Amino acid sequence: MKSAILWKRAKMKNYPSVLGLVVALIALSPPAHAEWVRRVVDGIMGTRIIVELWSEDPAKGEAAIEAVLDEMRHIDTTMSTYKPASEVSQVNDRAASGPMPISQELFDLLTTAKNYSEITDGAFDITYASVGYLYDFRKHVRPTEGQIDKALPAINYRHVMLDPANHTVQFSQAGVRIDLGGIAKGYAVDRGIDVLKSLNITRAFVSAGGDSRIIGDRFGKPWIVGIRDPSKGEDAVIARIPLVNAAISTSGDYERYFDEDGVRYHHIIDPHTGHSASKVRSATVIGPYATRTDGLSKTAFVLGPDKAMEIYDRLDDIDAIIVKLDGSVIHSKGMQSAQGMPSAH
Ligand code: ADP
Ligand code: MG
Repeated sequence: MKSAILWKRAKMKNYPSVLGLVVALIALSPPAHAEWVRRVVDGIMGTRIIVELWSEDPAKGEAAIEAVLDEMRHIDTTMSTYKPASEVSQVNDRAASGPMPISQELFDLLTTAKNYSEITDGAFDITYASVGYLYDFRKHVRPTEGQIDKALPAINYRHVMLDPANHTVQFSQAGVRIDLGGIAKGYAVDRGIDVLKSLNITRAFVSAGGDSRIIGDRFGKPWIVGIRDPSKGEDAVIARIPLVNAAISTSGDYERYFDEDGVRYHHIIDPHTGHSASKVRSATVIGPYATRTDGLSKTAFVLGPDKAMEIYDRLDDIDAIIVKLDGSVIHSKGMQSAQGMPSAH
């Protein structure tokens, strides 16, 4: 909670007066020998990774970026369900047969995931994969109603039993599968930021697909993150959000999908039905950590804009922007009051 309050304070500072901005720019002009170092890498976790940071020594900056990418490769190796040898794949193979010891890191992330299930009324649920694995969006494959009915009882986050004393996980029934795709990129971004902080980097942007986090500012100016317009091409944005010390995640129905007979099948699954969750076009969540904003950005698709906004508004450290099915945009309470932000419809 403490970090949440700090983040709220930081957020209020994101909108300085013009005079304040000028003074800050003069005071914070960067030293001449240092520079921004930026790298864009495709492929880790099946997505695009961007790391940009300020470094007094460009060679150290490059080394810091390497360290972030190594950490992300480690997370991919541990958590991908596309890799049969990953720890998560092994859990899916064995955890229905009995308690299975797992790494501290995976145990902690499964605990976090359960917490997100609780705060989203079950909309976020890593056991979505019990049905989700029957879809292949690249190959336009989807399960039959019969297959969904059969697999659906295995979706329930309560089936994932975690024993903190022994560090084990067990599934309470056969057929349960987990997939951390709804949280892993945000987690990788947070771990990347931790790596940078440990190397004394104080100004940086790290993103993995739709999940980003920022530490520090750009010498008196905020970072600007664009939110894509779901009805237009990749370059069209509905809003540009100024951010300092914050994370932001966007989920959209245009990310991984196929259309068939006028229905869009896409990669966010309603845990209650096993079908694609299509109650909004996109949801952007802003908060202190990318793991958290990633986990929460799926909620609006499953619960719809009003119920989801109620949940976002209840969480002190969270703001949100939702594009509804009719293309209209709604904002959380915190964004309506922030200076310079557009008000809700
Ligand atoms: P991206 O994968 O581009 O980061 P999202 O953040 O929107 O996109 O996450 C979508 C992913 O979340 C899906 O590909 C899937 O792995 C996972 N997922 C789908 N439905 C759910 C759900 N109800 N709860 C948790 N995770 C989900
Ligand atoms: Mg994501």
